[in-house]
Amino acid sequence: MEKNLDYLYDRKVDCYICKTSYTTKKVLSRYIRAHKHDTDFCSFYISTKINPLLYYVQVCPTCGFSSSEEFNNYFPPGTIDSIKEKISDNWKATFYCEERSLETAINSYKLAIYCATIKKEKHIALAGLYLRLSWLYRTEEINFEEEHRFLRLALDEYIKSYMNNDYSETHLSEVKLLYLIGELSRRIDNQAQATRYFSRVIEKQRDTIEKGIVQMAKDRWSEMREQKLG
Ligand SMILES: [Zn+2]
Repeated sequence: MEKNLDYLYDRKVDCYICKTSYTTKKVLSRYIRAHKHDTDFCSFYISTKINPLLYYVQVCPTCGFSSSEEFNNYFPPGTIDSIKEKISDNWKATFYCEERSLETAINSYKLAIYCATIKKEKHIALAGLYLRLSWLYRTEEINFEEEHRFLRLALDEYIKSYMNNDYSETHLSEVKLLYLIGELSRRIDNQAQATRYFSRVIEKQRDTIEKGIVQMAKDRWSEMREQKLG
């Protein structure tokens, strides 16, 4: 029986490490339907199968180098050899380029996190991987401990990214990043840090066009106060 994979399309990728080209699947935007959005921007999709989070990472079938579109093409000296030695030399051609199960997707994130760490990738790219992996655990309700473990790791990387200003060439604005740090802190019960970052967002309300984000910070702030009083 032929599988109906109409919702996926092929994206061509050139591998930085082994220099081959391959195609990987992505979900067509017209099929992406979210029915709920969390306060940290996590979306819940109508179908487990048609979930763009499953296809965020690309895995080279030839050498195993795994990345997201957030990776930059700079490899600090020695890191290419290190990836070849630690990943490619042990690579057992597992195929990630077709329709993915949840398990395959989770493995793809772990591979990309490993590659990003070896490559000394920007904090913002690593944060994006940790956060989405955490969302995958949350939306599929498979493992609360793992969801929180990866949320914490994402938070650490977002803070480092803010300190090092390595998010400046991405689509993420300062206001949105500050909000996200506040919100992830709130979710892991670091209320003091959450308050600090939400107030930084609110301080910027006159200078930003992102009024929606400022409002979200105010909402979270008052929810926290109500919980404290209650
Ligand atoms: Zn490759």
